[in-house]
Amino acid sequence: MQERSRKEKNILYIVVPCYNEEQVLAETSKRLKEKCEMLIHDGKIAKESRIVFVDDGSKDHTWNMIDEFHKMDSIFSGVKLSRNRGHQNALLAGLTMASEKADIVISMDADLQDDINAVDQMIEKYYEGCDIVYGVRSARDTDTFFKRFTAEAFYKLINKMGGELVYNHADYRLMSKRALKGLLEFDEVNIFLRGMVPMVGYQSDIVTYERAERFAGESKYPLKKMLSFAFEGITSLSVKPIKMIFNVGILICVISVLAIIYCLVRHFTNNTVSGWTSLVMSIWFLGGLQLIAIGMVGQYIGKIYLETKARPKFIIEQVLND
Ligand code: UDP
Ligand code: MG
Repeated sequence: MQERSRKEKNILYIVVPCYNEEQVLAETSKRLKEKCEMLIHDGKIAKESRIVFVDDGSKDHTWNMIDEFHKMDSIFSGVKLSRNRGHQNALLAGLTMASEKADIVISMDADLQDDINAVDQMIEKYYEGCDIVYGVRSARDTDTFFKRFTAEAFYKLINKMGGELVYNHADYRLMSKRALKGLLEFDEVNIFLRGMVPMVGYQSDIVTYERAERFAGESKYPLKKMLSFAFEGITSLSVKPIKMIFNVGILICVISVLAIIYCLVRHFTNNTVSGWTSLVMSIWFLGGLQLIAIGMVGQYIGKIYLETKARPKFIIEQVLND
């Protein structure tokens, strides 16, 4: 993967994961093609640039449409997954394919919620030296109150847990060849790309855009999938929840000392029911001890978890050596 100088025209691959998107693909492909042709015409990107649709095991005519696009115009490429593997995996499949030839990759959703015009600014920033450009939603007016509220809570929670999410950024982003190469070194199976990309490093910037409503069709992320996505995000970025068990255990042990003192005072001053003192004391103390023990075991499991991810320990940006 030789890196091309940013002084020449670079090859852009736009990667679009699609799951049952037959209702939007005609429009999406038309607009993306127009955008690419304009960029090629303006001399911003090389003519070998491509639009890659990844069919994530769709059950409708999505793949037939992608196949047709490819036959009609070689600017369209397609990748078909053998079955539905979810948005993140579909995106990764497309990015892996793109990494062979692309100098720049941009990932975006198929439903035209991401403003295609932001691509121009992303590419400008790339030529100015950025390796990662995050598309950030300026307003969430089109989302329901519920979606806005849950999304905000999610970003806050993840950042508290030690993850590094770019606020209001989904998976609309540009990556340079070397940033993509860095990302592909993350070998983990449970992937949460928007949390992993910031770990790659390099110079990054954001481009804000207004997120539109879905062009057609319905969201492939109903509440149940959204919750499991959020859970996946937290558990794949952080082992802090385990530490929390440990801390709660310590807290309960401290409380149990107070409870023991209280019980003893009651025991000697009032007439308590026989057996009450010893029972309450042991429940609190043992409860605390058990949580500490679970938390301790958890700490080791957390370490094993991080080891099994085999993440790159570093990514080198530059070496000066003669
Ligand atoms: N998607 C996918 N596989 C899935 C679910 C979704 O490839 O299992 C794609 C979908 O076609 C779209 C993108 O992921 O291009 C985002 O999905 P959607 O727009 O439904 O999510 P929302 O914008 O509602 O969060
Ligand atoms: Mg969408």
